[in-house]
Amino acid sequence: VSREFDLIARYFTWPVPEGMLGVGDDCALVPVTPGYQLATSTDLLIEGRHFFSHVDPAALGHKSLAVNISDLAAMGAEPLACLLSLSLPEINESWLAQFAAGFRRLAQQTGCALVGGDTTQGSAIVINVTVLGQVKPEQALRRSAARLHDDIWVTGHLGAPDIALELLQRPDTLPPAERALLRSIRDTLEKPQPPWQFGAALAGIAHAAIDISDGLLQDLGHILAASRCGATLYYSNLPGHPALHSLNAARLEQALLCGGDVYQLCFTASPDQAAAIGRLGARLNVPLARIGTIQREPGIRLLNGEHAGARSMPLPEHRGFSHFD
Ligand code: ADP
Ligand code: MG
Repeated sequence: VSREFDLIARYFTWPVPEGMLGVGDDCALVPVTPGYQLATSTDLLIEGRHFFSHVDPAALGHKSLAVNISDLAAMGAEPLACLLSLSLPEINESWLAQFAAGFRRLAQQTGCALVGGDTTQGSAIVINVTVLGQVKPEQALRRSAARLHDDIWVTGHLGAPDIALELLQRPDTLPPAERALLRSIRDTLEKPQPPWQFGAALAGIAHAAIDISDGLLQDLGHILAASRCGATLYYSNLPGHPALHSLNAARLEQALLCGGDVYQLCFTASPDQAAAIGRLGARLNVPLARIGTIQREPGIRLLNGEHAGARSMPLPEHRGFSHFD
């Protein structure tokens, strides 16, 4: 038995639910509930580009699955299974054990069985995770499904991963206050907690959804473009992360509106559903903010608040993260 099979057996093989065929055959077999469709998504994480080489391997294992679970949540799909493909420059047993433990913990929490993958040697660490989930096709939260006068909602908090990333880029020169801030928000960047149960429960309740990976304005912009509509946002309703209160106003605004790596949901729903959505958030312990309204006129208008006489604010220049900027 080669080193590769040994490694897969040791770190990436654990029991899968009855009725599923997992790691070890040429294909996995994953049952889907009748009336549902398979929802699939994949993400590539490259050392030096998507994560620092020295990042905690358990956090990296967690995050490589979390960013995919986030896509399922944004579609209203429930997790079923995942595939993990790895390129590794060397076999570092301690790194692998920690990476696998972080991955496995989230996989088991979310009921997302690891059923296969591929392992190869390469010049950098490259991690590719594919997730499989299921959703009733008529209930899937498509980007094109926003309707006129829908409320726009956001789960969780905004802004912290963007600030954490900035602070991590100059860790040696941080004054004590910024070092303390980094300590309190670092997990938002390195261990995102997508609201996967909440996302699946929104199927049939909400209209459109997207996960905030590239920044609120950019990601909401994808919903608006696909749904051929526009939006008004109320800045004072945006759920800024509580640790960011000491930031200056311009940096905070940039982080809340454009900061990426959030892995929370932005979704739209009829105002008739507001109470049901509030109850769902309370039951699943997901913070919710109603941040704006869908309108006919294209584009995003930003008001400083929702009150009568609220003033309009200019949108920040930089709209979000793109790999080809
Ligand atoms: P194949 O030759 O069909 O590509 P492999 O020899 O690459 O199969 O892998 C053997 C088994 O181990 C397959 O079931 C595959 O899905 C699984 N596998 C390979 N790498 C991983 C990994 N990193 N995590 C989980 N399963 C893996
Ligand atoms: Mg293979």
